[in-house]
Amino acid sequence: MTTHSPYDGSTPLAREVADITRRRQAVEAQQFPLPSSARVITVANQKGGVGKTTTTVNLAAALARQGAHVLVIDLDPQGNASTALGVEHRAETPSVYDVIVGEATIDEVVQKSPEFERLYCVPATIHLAGAEIELVSLVAREQRLRTAVELYLAEADDPVHYVFIDCPPSLGLLTINAFVAAREVLIPIQCEYYALEGLSQLLNSIQLIERHLNPELRVSTILLTMYDARTNLANQVVADVREHFPQQVLNTLIPRSVRISEAPSYGQTVISYDHNSPGSLSYLEAAAEIAMRGAVA
Ligand code: ADP
Ligand code: MG
Repeated sequence: MTTHSPYDGSTPLAREVADITRRRQAVEAQQFPLPSSARVITVANQKGGVGKTTTTVNLAAALARQGAHVLVIDLDPQGNASTALGVEHRAETPSVYDVIVGEATIDEVVQKSPEFERLYCVPATIHLAGAEIELVSLVAREQRLRTAVELYLAEADDPVHYVFIDCPPSLGLLTINAFVAAREVLIPIQCEYYALEGLSQLLNSIQLIERHLNPELRVSTILLTMYDARTNLANQVVADVREHFPQQVLNTLIPRSVRISEAPSYGQTVISYDHNSPGSLSYLEAAAEIAMRGAVA
């Protein structure tokens, strides 16, 4: 009987380890080009649980780790992005709510992430849940986040390279504010049966915003999340999405991974929680693609 050492490249596990090592070396050797002005990217999908927050915080962390100055705006009353980035967001914490209602600037409420030197977060607290209704009666109700972001970018001492806005799972006024504030939309799509359901409604909303409120807005990026290579269904979703959106879909697929889902309970992104995991590596690769594409556009 021949015995295989798990480390000599002859077992599936050893091959996987070798593959991950090779991919890690490749992505870490890469220079992530920095954009000449801030790229404001809204992460949206009105479906819940598709990976918006996970994608926002991990891409932001990956870009910050590679040297970019990154701001995350948590625009979901759940405050999941704030939790994952390890920033304070108890009810009384100054937050994006104060910014939206015009009682504070981003500079006054922003917090530094404990993980990376140039990663910042505007937290969301439970107060934001009321904002959707309060906004209705405010002037320029669709533009409030945009105005705040523009002021912050204009006054920042150190140039900001990326702003990611994590949206709630709806197409209400908060998400509209995010669409008006951004130039790019990133849509995470979960590799599951109902993945494409609701997508046309999302694209229609984006088109309406583009026509009436923000002519610069475009869907720049689609990221397939929670991919499980063992299922035919996941592969079918990947094929469908690539066929419909050949330009927007990133080559990188984010695998379904326990390490990705447990990181937030430690107030961390997977980039620092388990840097060597396949999930962390995939988000680094996706971030590299986003950085490279921006350099071309
Ligand atoms: P959304 O912000 O769209 O509601 P989340 O990012 O919060 O979605 O993700 C929904 C749930 O799925 C969370 O519990 C999250 O930890 C988990 N999750 C997200 N991406 C992955 C992944 N690649 N592998 C495993 N679990 C994931
Ligand atoms: Mg979320």
